[in-house]
Amino acid sequence: MAGVNTVAGKFDAEVAIVGGGPAGLVCAIALKAAGVDALLVAPAAAPDHRTTALLAGSVTALTMLGVWQGCRPHAAPLRAIRIVDDTARLIRAPEVLFSAAEIGLDAFGCNVENRHLLAALEARVAALAVPRISAAALAVTADDDAISIVHAAGTVRARLAIGADGARSLCRAAAGIATKRHSYPQAALTLNLSHARPHDDSSTEFHTPDGPFTLVPLPGRRSSLVCVLRPEDAQRLLALDDGALAQEVERRAHSLFGAMQVESGRGLFPLAVETADSIAHGRIALVGEAAHVVPPIGAQGLNLSLRDAAAIAEIVAEARHESRDVGATAVLARYATERRADVASRIFAVNILNRSLLTDLIPAQGLRGLSLYLVDRIGPLRRALMREGVGPRLMRGARV
Ligand SMILES: Cc1cc2nc3c(=O)[nH]c(=O)nc-3n(C[C@H](O)[C@H](O)[C@H](O)COP(=O)(O)OP(=O)(O)OC[C@H]3O[C@@H](n4cnc5c(N)ncnc54)[C@H](O)[C@@H]3O)c2cc1C
Repeated sequence: MAGVNTVAGKFDAEVAIVGGGPAGLVCAIALKAAGVDALLVAPAAAPDHRTTALLAGSVTALTMLGVWQGCRPHAAPLRAIRIVDDTARLIRAPEVLFSAAEIGLDAFGCNVENRHLLAALEARVAALAVPRISAAALAVTADDDAISIVHAAGTVRARLAIGADGARSLCRAAAGIATKRHSYPQAALTLNLSHARPHDDSSTEFHTPDGPFTLVPLPGRRSSLVCVLRPEDAQRLLALDDGALAQEVERRAHSLFGAMQVESGRGLFPLAVETADSIAHGRIALVGEAAHVVPPIGAQGLNLSLRDAAAIAEIVAEARHESRDVGATAVLARYATERRADVASRIFAVNILNRSLLTDLIPAQGLRGLSLYLVDRIGPLRRALMREGVGPRLMRGARV
């Protein structure tokens, strides 16, 4: 295997990262930047027409890693978030406008198409000359002092495997970690579109009885749409031609941005929340969707994943610096402890919000209306909700 350093001749690398989605590529870059001997076992990621709203901490982390420079020309700032109760129910929440300026920020974050994000990440991986096996892992096994990853052309041995291999994670199964999954009676239709009127750098979220309908700014007079609705309605919309779909989207957006034109590349994603019972075990640490699948509500999924990646990179770099075994139980236990509260609280919040929209119970609707009212009226509560929390150092502009 040309180009791969050996650790005392026994390992092909100290850390092997399985999976080349955004979470895996960020792990590889962060570890390499910290001087850790890491390699990727990752076929090229599949084409992805979605966009990702990255919060300010994620943008800072990507800037520190030399990735954001490649995304910036394609990204739109999110300076405000408007939430509109579009349920037409008896108890409705007031419209809420969150402004980034209220918490001293220029923008909450930026929205960027995943294809540009992945291209920037891939370019950085190549620039840092991260060793890579461009094939899928076929089997992963751990013994006392190493982890072995079998791929089509051989086997890689490392101290630690980072499972960044998505929702159907082989690494998670190899670690014997089960998941809890809850499927919602909803699907997310995604597409990008252009519109006649400007979005003014504001994201607009209509809360409908079937789920949120969210328009997120892209550069120019363009936005990305995540429309959560019943699966049969999603299928019906998916089958429409471009003209009819554009009219339907404009109707659901109450013509806020005028006439619309949909771009090619629609996606349909069944909604579910799935969490791994443990985030690390037996020389395997999970990041991203291998650890948690979050419904696309409130832009939490990949932002959580990037915090996973930053946290494991920081913990591994520290263990490496102190000449400790980077796959040791103590290292994995610290990672699990550091990530527990962040992951649990975000999933809880997304769950509550989505369930309160779906339920027909007046008390739940009333509670949601009251919460939004309080968030609107009480400054400190409102500002706390908009902040991202402390998180790994990388999110605050420090090196790994
Ligand atoms: C509709 C929608 C909208 C979203 N919008 C946002 C948003 O605005 N903001 C946000 O923060 N998050 C958002 N998310 C969540 C975000 O997209 C996910 O969190 C993110 O894609 C997870 O990245 P990942 O790298 O963990 O997984 P993936 O992107 O699934 O990558 C996993 C990779 O592992 C590879 N792989 C699988 N098995 C193997 C194997 N055996 N060997 C090697 N490689 C393997 C796959 O090929 C793939 O490339 C959204 C999600 C959806 C569904």
